[in-house]
Amino acid sequence: MKTIWRNTFLTWLAGLASCVVIGLIIGQLLGVLLLYVLGSLYLQLYQLYQFHYWLRHSGRGAPPEASGIWGDVFDAVHRLQKKQRKSKRRMRQALTRIESSTAALKEGVIMADNQGNLEWWNNSAADFFGLVRPVDRGQMITNIVRSPEFFRYFSQKRFGEPLVIKSPSMEGIYLEIQTTLYDKNDHLIFIRDVTRLHLMEQMRKDFVANASHELKTPLTVIKGYLETLGMFKDKLPASMQKGIVNMSEQSERMEQLIEDLLLLSRLESNDKREENQWHSVSDIVKTITNATAPILSEQHIIDVHIPDNAHLYGAYKELYSAFSNLVVNAIKYSPEGGNITVTWESNELNGIFSVQDTGIGIEPNYIPRLTERFFRVDKGRGSKTGGTGLGLAIVKHILLHHDAKLQVKSQPGIGSKFACYFPASRVRNDNRPVPPTS
Ligand code: ADP
Repeated sequence: MKTIWRNTFLTWLAGLASCVVIGLIIGQLLGVLLLYVLGSLYLQLYQLYQFHYWLRHSGRGAPPEASGIWGDVFDAVHRLQKKQRKSKRRMRQALTRIESSTAALKEGVIMADNQGNLEWWNNSAADFFGLVRPVDRGQMITNIVRSPEFFRYFSQKRFGEPLVIKSPSMEGIYLEIQTTLYDKNDHLIFIRDVTRLHLMEQMRKDFVANASHELKTPLTVIKGYLETLGMFKDKLPASMQKGIVNMSEQSERMEQLIEDLLLLSRLESNDKREENQWHSVSDIVKTITNATAPILSEQHIIDVHIPDNAHLYGAYKELYSAFSNLVVNAIKYSPEGGNITVTWESNELNGIFSVQDTGIGIEPNYIPRLTERFFRVDKGRGSKTGGTGLGLAIVKHILLHHDAKLQVKSQPGIGSKFACYFPASRVRNDNRPVPPTS
C-alpha cells in the first residue's frame, strides 16, 4: 500500500522535474508547469469517470484498465464485489433448499407477523387450512380458521399447550397446532395431522365412560345385598362380619372411583356442561367445610380467609368439586392433624384460591406428575386414605374449563400449598346484585 503511494508520488515528482527542465530550456517554465498540472488533473478525472461508469453499470465484467493507485482501487472494489456475489449466491441456494425442504414437510408451517397476518406457508399448511396463494397473503389467520377455540387460543396467546381443532378445509381431519413467538413477536405455527391419535383417544374416553357406566348397576346390587347382610351382622360368625365390613368399604371406594371416572369423562368431552354464573367463593367454601366436618379429626384446625365480596364466574358444581378435592386432600394428607388454611387473594391479573396444609408434603420430583390419572406419591397410601388417584386430574380439567392454572408448592415433612390462578376476567370483588348469567 505504502509502496504504491510512494511510487505514484515519485512518478508525479519526476514528471514535474522534467517539466521544470524543459520549461527552463525553452524559456516557458510557467506555461509548461501549467500544462503538466492540467494534464495530471485530466488524467485523474478520466480515471474517476471510468470508475464511475463501471460502477453505474453494476460493476459487471472486469474493471477498467488502470495503473498505479487507481488500478489498485479498481482491483480492491472488484474483489469485494466478487466476494459479495458469492455469499449472495450461497444464501440464495440455502434459502431455496430451506424452502423446498419445508415444502416437502408433511407438517404444515406458517409464518405470520406479530398481528397474525399471514406472510408465508408451505404446501401442507395450504392443504390443512385451505390457503390460496397469493389471495390469502396478508390475511388475518383468525379470519381463515374460524373456530372459537382457535380464536381464544390465538388472541389470548395460549401457546403453552398445543391446540387440537378440526381442519377448516378437510372433512374428518383433526389438527394439532403449536405456535412459537420469534423475533418481534412474530408467529411460527406448526400444524400436524393427529386424526388417528384423536380417534384413538376418543375411543379410549368412550370406553372408560361406557365401562364406568356399565359397572354402576352391578355395584348398586352388590352394595344393596351388603347393606342387607350388614343388618344381620351380629348373627354371623366373627370372620364373616370382618369380611362384610371390608367388602362394604371396598364397594364404597369402587363407587367413588366410578363417580370420579364418569366426572372426568364428562369434563373431557365437554358434555352437558352447567352454565357459567357468578358465585360467591365464600359460599362455596362454607358448603365444603360443612361437608368435610365429619372427616376432620380433633387435631385439625381449618382457617378460612375468604372475603365476603369475592366472586368467581364459573360452573358451581365444577368449582365445588375442584375446591373440595383440594380441601379433602389437605385433610387426608395431614394425618397427625395440623393447620389447613383456605385463602382467596386477588390482584389485577388473577384471583387466587389456595389451600395450604402442614401435612406430609410431596417430594419435588413428584409434583409435575400429581395431576396424572391414578398417580399417587405413595402407592400404598391410596387404600389407607380412600383416595382414587383421580382427584387432582379432575381439578386440572375443571381449572382448564375456567381458564385457570394450578400451582403446587410443597416440602416433604413441612406441608403443601395448592393454588388455583383464575384470570381477572372471571373475578369480581364486590357485592353488586349478580345477574343470573352474563
Ligand atoms: P388421591 O385420591 O390419591 O388423593 P389425588 O389425585 O387427589 O388422588 O392426589 C394424587 C396424589 O397427590 C395423592 O395420592 C397424594 O400422594 C398426593 N397429594 C395430593 N394432595 C396432597 C397434599 N395436600 N399433601 C400431600 N400429598 C398430596
